[in-house]
Amino acid sequence: MKSARGSRTGIYCSPRMKVMAIIPAAGLGTRMTAAAAAHGKKPFVSKQFAGLQGMPILARTLSKFVRSREVQQIYVALRKNEMAAFRERLEREIPEILEKSPVFLEGGEHRQQSVANALAAVSAADDDVILVHDAVRPFVTEAMIHDVVEAVKKYGAAIAGIPAVDTIKQVERTAEGALIKTTIPREKVVMAQTPQGFRYQVLRRAFEEAQADGFLGTDEASLVERSGHPVAVVMGSARNIKITTPADLELAEFYLQHS
Ligand code: C5P
Repeated sequence: MKSARGSRTGIYCSPRMKVMAIIPAAGLGTRMTAAAAAHGKKPFVSKQFAGLQGMPILARTLSKFVRSREVQQIYVALRKNEMAAFRERLEREIPEILEKSPVFLEGGEHRQQSVANALAAVSAADDDVILVHDAVRPFVTEAMIHDVVEAVKKYGAAIAGIPAVDTIKQVERTAEGALIKTTIPREKVVMAQTPQGFRYQVLRRAFEEAQADGFLGTDEASLVERSGHPVAVVMGSARNIKITTPADLELAEFYLQHS
């Protein structure tokens, strides 16, 4: 069988390479709950289960990966006490989400641990592509998934990101708020989104090193960066929002109504 080698990274590229998606969905959604409580509203159990036009956000996100022709297998990290109810709801109301027989597994205390648990359950070859995507970003598109996968084939690691439109300040936290230390030229920054994709061997090594060093990151790219592997950025989308607060939920409703 013929194989190709990426010109820049020298990463082996098999024609039978598989693409798998990990969806960390074991967060507590504390920012959503706190904001809802502050406005005297009923708090959500977890933001990924909040309804968007009658369908849980997580189900909407999952449907994108189920429909993607590139993604073969899906792993979903959930809180233990939410697993059975979510599966039953899908079976009852949206069985098509179960089409690719997603693997439901228990998440961890932090997002990184949830992804690590999923990674431990994955059976992959070194050059297979692992995508990680936030459960609460339901506006990911097939094109975005494709672009990240293509960039991973070329560079070994790639994420979706968007340019910053605001001026970015580095600050020092104070009791009252913050004091600006410096301004970071915005052409030097991108806002990281998901999907984030990696060759399995690249991601596994980065996780092993992070665990050995006790490093805790807020995305997978930060682990891969510190392992010394270059990470490419492809264009994400301003619509690919991470639904974090009740205001984001309102924006998501608006996007759905106007899509
Ligand atoms: O907490 P944060 O907003 O960064 O969450 C991003 C994603 O990681 C969400 O989809 C959330 O459900 C997930 N997460 C997780 N396990 C945790 C914390 C967050 O799977 N312990």
